[in-house]
Amino acid sequence: MAKLYKFPGGLKLEGHKTASTSQSISKASIPTRLFVPLNQSIGSPGECIVKKGQYVLKGELIARVTDYVAVPVHAPSSGTIIDIQKFPAAHASGLPCDVIIIEPDGKDEWMARKPLADINKLDPSELRNMIRCAVIVGLGGAAFPTFIKLNPVGHQIKTLILNGAECEPYISCDDMLMRERPDEILAGAKIMRHALNAESVIVAVEDNKPEAIASLQAASNDLGWVAIQSIPAIYPTGGERQLVKVLTGKDVPSQGLPLDLNIIVSNVATAAAVHHALDHQRPLISRIITVTGSGVSSPRNIEALIGTPMSDLIDMAGGYTENADRLIMGGPMMGITLKTDATPVVKASNCLLVQTPADHATEAISRACIRCGECVKVCPVKLLPQQLYWFSQSKNLDGLQAHHLFDCIECGCCSVVCPSHIPLVQYFRYGKSECWNKEQETIKSDRARERTEARTTRLERIKAEKKAQHAARAKKTAAASDDRQKEIQAAVTRSKAKKAENADTRTT
Ligand code: SF4
Ligand code: SF4
Repeated sequence: MAKLYKFPGGLKLEGHKTASTSQSISKASIPTRLFVPLNQSIGSPGECIVKKGQYVLKGELIARVTDYVAVPVHAPSSGTIIDIQKFPAAHASGLPCDVIIIEPDGKDEWMARKPLADINKLDPSELRNMIRCAVIVGLGGAAFPTFIKLNPVGHQIKTLILNGAECEPYISCDDMLMRERPDEILAGAKIMRHALNAESVIVAVEDNKPEAIASLQAASNDLGWVAIQSIPAIYPTGGERQLVKVLTGKDVPSQGLPLDLNIIVSNVATAAAVHHALDHQRPLISRIITVTGSGVSSPRNIEALIGTPMSDLIDMAGGYTENADRLIMGGPMMGITLKTDATPVVKASNCLLVQTPADHATEAISRACIRCGECVKVCPVKLLPQQLYWFSQSKNLDGLQAHHLFDCIECGCCSVVCPSHIPLVQYFRYGKSECWNKEQETIKSDRARERTEARTTRLERIKAEKKAQHAARAKKTAAASDDRQKEIQAAVTRSKAKKAENADTRTT
C-alpha cells in the first residue's frame, strides 16, 4: 500500500449515492429532438457547417472550430437538421446559446468509420490529433479539451492520475462506470499513457466505493503499469490539487497546475471516452449522467446522447416527486442551478440533481458573520474565507486578489460549516467576476490609451515630416533665388563690361 498524505481542511460529507447506484446504468432512448449546443468546451463556439433540411449521419461533423482550445461538434444520431437557433444553455446564467436541432430518424445510422489503427504504432502527436477530432473533453465537469492536456510541452510526465474520487455528494456516474466498465477505463489509460509517455498510471478511488475498487483491481490484475489506489473519502479530495497532495505529498503551486510537478490528472470517464474514440472511432456523443435527489422518483445513472433534453431523463427516472422545486447540473456543492428542464445534456453534465424545499431550507436565514473562524478550518487551500467575504461585500478587489481569491476552488466547504448560513461561495463567484470585469476594463482602457498614444505619435510624426518638407522646400527655393540673383548679377556685370568694351572701341 502506497503512502498517502493529507490536504488541509476538507469535510466528511454524507454521500447520498446509494439511491442512484442501486441499479445498473440505463440507456436513454433516442429523443424526438436533439438540441446540440455549438459550444461544449471552454473555447469559442463551433461554426455550424450544416443547413436546415440537411440529413446527417451519426458521428458526422456538424460544426468546426478554428480556436485552438475549442473542439468541433458531431451529430449524436442520424436524422434531419430542422433548425439552428438559440436555446437555454446549461450554464448558471441560463442565457440562450446557439444549438443545432436534429430530428432523429430512429435508425441511429453511423457515418463510415475508418478501419482500426494500431495505436501502439502511432506517434503521440497523431494520437492527440485523433483525440481532438473525436471531440474529447474532460468529463469531470470542466470540459477542458483532452488533446491539450495530453500535450505537456517541455515536461516529461512521470505519473498520469486517473481521478475516480467523485467526492461530491449525490454524483455517482464515475462510480457506476468504474463498477461496470473498468476495461474501457484501462484501455483509455493505456492510450493516454502512450500519448504522454508517462512512467506510470494511478487510478485513485475513494474508499467509500469498494465495488468500483474491486472491479478495477480485477480488470488490472495482469497490468504492471497501473495501480488502483484507494484514498480516504474526504471532500474535496477529487479536486486536482487535493488529489495530487493525497497521492504524492506535493503541493501544486498557487495558480499553477499538476503539470508543474510533471503530473497529469484526468477523469476516469475521459479515459473511457479516449478508448471509444481511438479503438472504435466513436466521437464523444454521449455520456453517463446521474439523475438523482429527493425531487425524482427513481434515481439512477443514464447513458444519454449529447443534446437530449433533461426533461427526458427526468421521465426515465420516474418523473418529479410532488415537491421538486430546483434543478442543479452537478452536485449540491459546486453545481449550477438550471432555469428549465428543457436544457440539453452537454459533455459537462455529470449529474442532474433535483431538490425539494427541504434540501435548501437554510438558505433563507443568512445572518451576520460572527467571526467564529469555522470556515478557515475547513478550507482545503488555506484561504481566509471570512476575510474574502468582507472584501467581496465591500468590493475591495485589491484585497480579494491579495488574499488569493483565485486559488479558491469553489468547493463550498466554508459555506456548509458557516453557522450564520452565509452563502460564501456565491460571494466568491461574484468577487471573481468583478475582478475579471475590472481586468477586462483595464485591458480595454489600456488598449484605448495605446491607440490614443499611437495616434498622437503618428500625428506628431506627420507634422514633423511636413515641417521638414516645408523647410527643405524653402531652402531649395532660397538657393534657387540665390542662384538667380547671382546669374542676374553676372549678366549685369557682363553687360557693363560689354558696354565699357564698346565705349573703348568707339574712342580709339
Ligand atoms: S464561518 Fe461564517 S460566521 Fe464563522 S467566521 Fe466564517 S463567515 Fe463568519
Ligand atoms: S469555497 Fe473557496 S474559500 Fe471556501 S473552503 Fe472552498 S476553497 Fe476555501
